[in-house]
Amino acid sequence: EVAIRDVRKSFGAVEVLKGINLEVGRGEVTALIGRSGSGKSTLLRCVNGLEKINAGSIEIAGHTVGTDKSALRALRRDVGIVFQSYNLFPHLSVGQNIMLAPRIVKDVAKGESRATAEEVLALVGLSEKFDAYPDELSGGQQQRVAIARSLAMRPKVMLFDEVTSALDPELTGEVLAVMEQLARGGMTMLLVTHEMGFARRVANTTVFMHQGRIHEAGPSRELFENPKTPELAQFVRSDV
Ligand code: ATP
Ligand code: MG
Repeated sequence: EVAIRDVRKSFGAVEVLKGINLEVGRGEVTALIGRSGSGKSTLLRCVNGLEKINAGSIEIAGHTVGTDKSALRALRRDVGIVFQSYNLFPHLSVGQNIMLAPRIVKDVAKGESRATAEEVLALVGLSEKFDAYPDELSGGQQQRVAIARSLAMRPKVMLFDEVTSALDPELTGEVLAVMEQLARGGMTMLLVTHEMGFARRVANTTVFMHQGRIHEAGPSRELFENPKTPELAQFVRSDV
């Protein structure tokens, strides 16, 4: 479902991605881990066409990532992305936040978008918050609404960039539980996380990025139990 080939990305003279090759099969979950500045977010942004790549190619959910505006719109209908900051519209209720994109982007009828919103809200365990406003919710609840909002578009692939790192530990668990449930339900996912336990338990594959390259990758359990490079061994030791 995702194929990243020889991708290079520079900001000015600084090359941040130095030839990335990565595939995520349909229904698979891949976790990106690595130190700050190793290029994880940049890679995720390239995959969604938010950053333009300098070389290589990316295919996702049947789309080739390029710069054509209408092609990018088509791609983003099939690819959901959730960030650390949830960016809900404060003046719209939870239900309105979720119904907005399908109605505008997909031209979905009002009744249908409401049914979908109720369904995805139930999926993240917040059925009773349909008419609440974002500032009436905890951070963890807001992040779950942000995930529900993405799911309302019926994406084929979901991208997550450190969606729990702004949350208190006790709120982190409820968001991770929603993501785990999505993974178990067969969603194709590529996620950046600092939650090593989550990566190990939920991701089929974990990819360790180091200085703009994939330094080590493999089945998650194997990677964490038996790191082959000293850099990963040190990262796992310092992070857990
Ligand atoms: P973190 O764990 O801190 O989120 P990361 O692995 O996600 O780190 P990136 O955000 O991908 O790292 O950044 C990789 C490198 O690219 C960093 O050196 C960063 O300073 C640089 N960089 C990222 N975005 C830009 C930008 N828009 N302009 C210039 N440099 C950038
Ligand atoms: Mg980042």
